[in-house]
Amino acid sequence: MIEDMFIEPRYHLHRRKGWIEVVCGSMFSGKTEELIRRVKRAEIAGQKVEIFKPSVDTRYHEIEVTSHNENRIPSTPVTSPLNILLMVNEATVVGIDEAQFFDESLVYVCEQLARKGIRVMVAGLDMDYLGKPFGPVPMLMAVAEYVTKVHAICVNCGDLATHSFRKVSNSSLIMLGEKDTYEARCRYCFQEGMSELA
Ligand code: ZN
Repeated sequence: MIEDMFIEPRYHLHRRKGWIEVVCGSMFSGKTEELIRRVKRAEIAGQKVEIFKPSVDTRYHEIEVTSHNENRIPSTPVTSPLNILLMVNEATVVGIDEAQFFDESLVYVCEQLARKGIRVMVAGLDMDYLGKPFGPVPMLMAVAEYVTKVHAICVNCGDLATHSFRKVSNSSLIMLGEKDTYEARCRYCFQEGMSELA
């Protein structure tokens, strides 16, 4: 197997060492599906997993992480990343979804968890609706051992999409919504759409 083809690290067998892995991309790129896939596989292997998400994300369900295709796993909503440090019990794997809505203390928290020997999986948007780095995700990408960028498909041209285009005019950074509010676009079609809105 070619070494740089991996999407996930191999478990470090000899000593329990933690690490950070980030799954990021635009809306509709399957970030949460990928997080759920990794979580379920760890659970099948008998690993104790705990999932957290910011309490701001109440689009679907208060205590579950739900992907767009309705795949779901139980999760704990928290208002601050520091609560995660307090709430993690015997977990060897910690999943964090919608990381972009947390403040920058999430970086410290993930590093503390990894130092304790925990595998930390973080999923979130890497860019906001303006195409700018979003919240703590860019910094997490810097300190993570492994980063996976997943892509959606551009609704305009069918190319790989990296950007979340907001179809309605609203300048608040956090605007929850689905297909009525956002669409996935490639860099070119995103910029085209932004100049049409301007
Ligand atoms: Zn496009």
